[in-house]
Amino acid sequence: MNDVLKKTVPGGAAADSATVSETVAGAILTIDLGAIRQNYRRLKARLGGARCAGVVKADGYGLGAAQVAAALAREGCDIFFVALLSEGIALRRSLGPVPAIHVLNGIAPGAEAEAAAAGLAAVINSVEQLVAWRTAARRTGRKLPAAIQVDSGMSRLGMAAVEVAVVAGDPQAFEGIDVTLAMSHLACADEPAHPANERQRLEFERLRKMLPKAPASLANSSGIFLGSRFHYDLARPGAALYGINPTPAEPNPLLPVVRLQAKVVQTRILEAGAGVGYGHTFHTPAPLAAATISFGYADGWHRRAASAAWFEGVRLPFLGRVSMDSIILDISALPPGRLKAGDLVELIGPSQTVDQAAGHAGTIGYEILTSLGHRFHRRYVNG
Ligand SMILES: *Cc1c(COP(=O)(O)O)cnc(C)c1O
Repeated sequence: MNDVLKKTVPGGAAADSATVSETVAGAILTIDLGAIRQNYRRLKARLGGARCAGVVKADGYGLGAAQVAAALAREGCDIFFVALLSEGIALRRSLGPVPAIHVLNGIAPGAEAEAAAAGLAAVINSVEQLVAWRTAARRTGRKLPAAIQVDSGMSRLGMAAVEVAVVAGDPQAFEGIDVTLAMSHLACADEPAHPANERQRLEFERLRKMLPKAPASLANSSGIFLGSRFHYDLARPGAALYGINPTPAEPNPLLPVVRLQAKVVQTRILEAGAGVGYGHTFHTPAPLAAATISFGYADGWHRRAASAAWFEGVRLPFLGRVSMDSIILDISALPPGRLKAGDLVELIGPSQTVDQAAGHAGTIGYEILTSLGHRFHRRYVNG
């Protein structure tokens, strides 16, 4: 056996998750499971009496759904949300039979039997999905769990008001279905003053009263910070658990979770007038100390991101374009010879938060995390 591909057991869970070793990898992603647990506790404290689920779609926002969910379960979290049935089936395997797992996009037509067999709760977004889930319940001979999602004004997923009216008038509509939640999703929760928030809340109030009596759920991460009117019985945070700021206009009330570091491949002094990187989009105005790091757009960094890496608190701007597997840095702010091949520079961490990195790339922290590549050495700490 060689040790190039090491089996690790991150946080005591997911023994099958192979990660390239630290020596071999070009970049290292450190995920602080202890910080995720603390963030869960902070959100719970803010929720008062309401319950707190864990949203672990898109592989736990790119950080590892199995590891994240195991950490949250140790905090007492027993309700999870994924986006896709495939994610739900994988999560059921890693979490065991007890926690509730909801599939936000609902069950694709024809996949109901598999969803039922995995013990998953459907999020019902349409009358069509309701009929299919009811049929599946009849076929399996037992009640099947489902959250009913209504569209309170985002126009993305959930039953429209007219559909809610139809099912409300049909005494058989929910036969065989164990309604676990009445839920909806906010479009503008990260803008507390946006009038859509209260409009959506009132529409949710109106629609949920037409459904079978069930616990209610409206708030995502940012929704938790809109005040207790938005808390209802269950909140569904994702981003905030992972250290993304749910209150962009104010300091982040959560702890950072992710550290991303890339290895220096080589350093050199560039001559004045040198064209740097693909397309020569940058030319050195004068001789310049540069370093090339083992990290590029194949690792999830936008090709056009005007950005920087950091070393011991010193900012090292990107030069020219981001390549697939490498980026050239201006290291002239460091003493000569200070940065060497094999040293690690930081892309996300204490010097540059996920949200700041996202700002430089013209996107949001959600996209930075879920774009992170698959060739890092992944290190789970404080599990
Ligand atoms: C993604 C998602 C969430 C979690 O949102 P965050 O902003 O990451 O907290 C909650 N509910 C639904 C329906 C979602 O799609």
